[in-house]
Amino acid sequence: MTMLMPAFELHQPKTLDEAVKLIAAFKGDFDILSGGTDLLPNYKCGLNAHKNVISLQHIAELREIRTGKGDSPQKEKGTVPFSGLEIGGGVTLIQLERDKNVPASVRDCAHHVASPLLRESGTVGGNLMQDTRCHFFNQSYFWRRTLGYCLKADGDRCHVVPNLNEGGKNVLNTKVCVATNCSDLAPMFMVLGASVLLVGPQGSRTIPLTQMYAGDGIERFAIKRGEILAKIILPASTANWRSGWKKLAPRQSIDFSVLGVAAALELAADKSVKSLRVGLGSVDVRPVMFDYGAKSDQPAPTSYLFVDPAKAPPQVAGKKLDEALINQIADHVKTCASPKLNVPMEPAYRKKMAGVLTRRLLTELAAG
Ligand SMILES: Cc1cc2nc3c(=O)[nH]c(=O)nc-3n(C[C@H](O)[C@H](O)[C@H](O)COP(=O)(O)OP(=O)(O)OC[C@H]3O[C@@H](n4cnc5c(N)ncnc54)[C@H](O)[C@@H]3O)c2cc1C
Ligand code: SF4
Repeated sequence: MTMLMPAFELHQPKTLDEAVKLIAAFKGDFDILSGGTDLLPNYKCGLNAHKNVISLQHIAELREIRTGKGDSPQKEKGTVPFSGLEIGGGVTLIQLERDKNVPASVRDCAHHVASPLLRESGTVGGNLMQDTRCHFFNQSYFWRRTLGYCLKADGDRCHVVPNLNEGGKNVLNTKVCVATNCSDLAPMFMVLGASVLLVGPQGSRTIPLTQMYAGDGIERFAIKRGEILAKIILPASTANWRSGWKKLAPRQSIDFSVLGVAAALELAADKSVKSLRVGLGSVDVRPVMFDYGAKSDQPAPTSYLFVDPAKAPPQVAGKKLDEALINQIADHVKTCASPKLNVPMEPAYRKKMAGVLTRRLLTELAAG
């Protein structure tokens, strides 16, 4: 069956300013295009296409990776104290995995996205902003029509969570979408304390990456539509942390993760834990991060959703990262993970594997 690309007008600005003016002019009827490896397949499936497509491919300033030498411009605005590494939103995944200034864990994570061909086009901004995924959404128009579509495109029901309990009554779900965020890079960048520089018609601002995502499979973001992700900023403070990444996918190449686990560890001189963060991808509508080292009086910049309140996070600061502590953390991650049956592999298996991969990764980081 042929899947035709819908008609749209392609705009190719050469600067961020020009792109922002186009965004303001089109009053919502636009999409931003970077490498196109996520957006264009969705267009071909007839998923939420718009009349105007604004390509970022000709904006040179988005394609740079720069190491911070001194204070970043954001310091004057009081948001980011120092930029260790600035990665343009239009940097391709191949560029990211080959740049020796980029932490090895991030390069490894990028290297396991999709396939070499897709990584040549796919970008860091597109990876972080990619659409959420679901068996009932990532299908052709014809396929979706046989089921009456769904909330996320063209329909009014959810096939994954068909009913909601409202005030003790079982009602048809006409509002909640639990499509899964499968970005590999998001949890990896989160555990390293990344911020993002957003540029849009209302100006520019820098926010922690953990605050960029919303708990809704349709809206996806807590930022305004039309804000361009111009840079990912990795702070110098985490540059020497031990960090790593593990991915579960049906096949080693080409397939999206059905679970991704990232972790970053800061050790004190006596080898006790100073900071420890674990990030989870592909188990929720947004990437999830647990900040185990955060002091209880300072809320951590986490973005986790389904934390079981009965399961208190283990205390890690000042302790040795031994087998017993690793098992406690892995158990906490497993308990909190809440995958849905909308991407490949059973939720129960992915939940169990969240604990297994956390344990393996932390064991590796503890060993150095
Ligand atoms: C077969 C296949 C396998 C894949 N496997 C993986 C995988 O293993 N792991 C994974 O993480 N992803 C995977 N992907 C998804 C995708 O290819 C990558 O995430 C890629 O990095 C997306 O980047 P892009 O530049 O092509 O995004 P695009 O398709 O250009 O854009 C994706 C979305 O982000 C928005 N966007 C892009 N850049 C910006 C920006 N700078 N500012 C604001 N909005 C922006 C677009 O509007 C669009 O909504 C896969 C895709 C395919 C087709
Ligand atoms: S989870 Fe979202 S995308 Fe999947 S069927 Fe439900 S509404 Fe559609």
